[in-house]
Amino acid sequence: MSKFNVQELLPKEGEVFISNKYVQSTSDKWLPVINPATEEQIYKIPICNDSDVKMAVESARSAQSVWERIHPRERGKYLYKIAELILKHKNELALLETMNVGKPISVMLNREIPRTAELITYYAGWCDKITGSTNIISTNTTLFVTEEPVGVAAGIVPWNFPLIIAFYKIAPAIVCGNSIILKPSEHSPLTALYMGKIFQEAGLPEGVVNIVTGDGTTGELLVKSPINKIAFTGSIETGKKILRSCSNDLKRVHLELGGKSPHVIFEDAPIDASIESAVNGIFYNSGQVCIAGSRLFVHKSIHDQYLEKLKRKVDSIVTGDPLSETTTMGPICNKMQFEKITRYMSTAIQENAVTITGGSRLDQKGYFVKPTIFDRVNQGSTIAKEEIFGPVLSCIEFDTMENLVSMTNSTIYGLAAGCWTKDINKAMYFAKTVKAGIVWINSFYCMDPVSPFGGFKQSGFGRDLGKESLNNYLESKSIIIMH
Ligand code: NAD
Repeated sequence: MSKFNVQELLPKEGEVFISNKYVQSTSDKWLPVINPATEEQIYKIPICNDSDVKMAVESARSAQSVWERIHPRERGKYLYKIAELILKHKNELALLETMNVGKPISVMLNREIPRTAELITYYAGWCDKITGSTNIISTNTTLFVTEEPVGVAAGIVPWNFPLIIAFYKIAPAIVCGNSIILKPSEHSPLTALYMGKIFQEAGLPEGVVNIVTGDGTTGELLVKSPINKIAFTGSIETGKKILRSCSNDLKRVHLELGGKSPHVIFEDAPIDASIESAVNGIFYNSGQVCIAGSRLFVHKSIHDQYLEKLKRKVDSIVTGDPLSETTTMGPICNKMQFEKITRYMSTAIQENAVTITGGSRLDQKGYFVKPTIFDRVNQGSTIAKEEIFGPVLSCIEFDTMENLVSMTNSTIYGLAAGCWTKDINKAMYFAKTVKAGIVWINSFYCMDPVSPFGGFKQSGFGRDLGKESLNNYLESKSIIIMH
């Protein structure tokens, strides 16, 4: 197998994964899959149509009634097997994701693939622990609360973490006895398509996980189809459309949307560790992270020397070929996003932000932009308010806690926040007043499958991860017995 030919790893172009088989889509509409480091087409996918979606829904529906009756511990065994196979096939998965999304291959191999396997293993352990509860209502009345699967779910996911976010949805859904139809992003469908082989190798019963490809039109067909639950991660704009559509038949829905997370450096912050964290917090995955610490609030008293050190660290980032082991930042995943980021860079300059480093594209083929820091970012300016979703850090100076809290909470988002200080009282005050679903004190991006993950405000509702995510895929039923 040639190391660089993704076609050899994937099903025949046009095939999608339904009932545990790769089957030809009936669509005549196609989308190219582009390698963002070279701008070359490496594959093409069908935009699944009504009849493809119908077939996937029927398969999932008939699988679900069988799957929910399988002993929970047996269900868990399939998940453990899938986790094991993901590690066994890590080289193939890493190559596909790197060539499709532009992530440095070392990040895939050392971080995202092991974390995906860990996440699945965590949920496998939940299979036989979804127990419901009992309660005594009166001496002759007893309540049983049972937890039943919600039914057929759709996981509609974005392009920035295609493999792991797919399992944010698949793992808890199938643990709870549901079946699921996954629709990866049109920009990053390759690892999802490859996963079909892993589900086959794991012997997963047919129809428990189905995978259809396509853009928003396929997503819309899924949302309107006779299923029970939509688990969505993506932009606010699409989240709102899905919510409106789900209101027609009151489908269950939870939404994981965008962010504009504040990362705060108090005057007593440990300098080296916090700089490491500030850099990782915005440049990891080329800044294409919903929880990216894209607004860096630096206390006025340390601002100048902090920015100087920060610039030195950012200038040491190695941007380039994601297949090279020495690269620390790859390209932007797709052309549309690349153009959006460069537009934001121009807007920042027009709105008088001071460019500390970067601020433009790299002068080479591929969707590469320079890691960028803007300072003196005005609180009311576009880049202080809107999600850029790229390697662009906006620095803002603050003086008092009051001033800080009002600025950090001033966007429509509320996904994540972080702060660095040796003063636990200050840290806890910040953690309690900031509107965010996850707050890190003296770290950033510390993630674990046990920790619920989701947003306040327009960053969405419902939670992925943790035991909380199971609630998305269960219906509680009260059974009251008079005796
Ligand atoms: P997007 O909303 O454009 O697309 C997400 C998915 O929705 C894709 O699969 C797309 O094909 C599908 N889709 C598009 N229109 C649809 C419609 N009308 N009906 C149904 N499905 C539709 O988002 P994106 O550009 O892929 O991802 C970037 C966004 O995702 C950012 O805002 C980022 O912050 C967010 N995100 C959030 C989290 C989180 O956990 N909160 C994680 C990762 C990314």
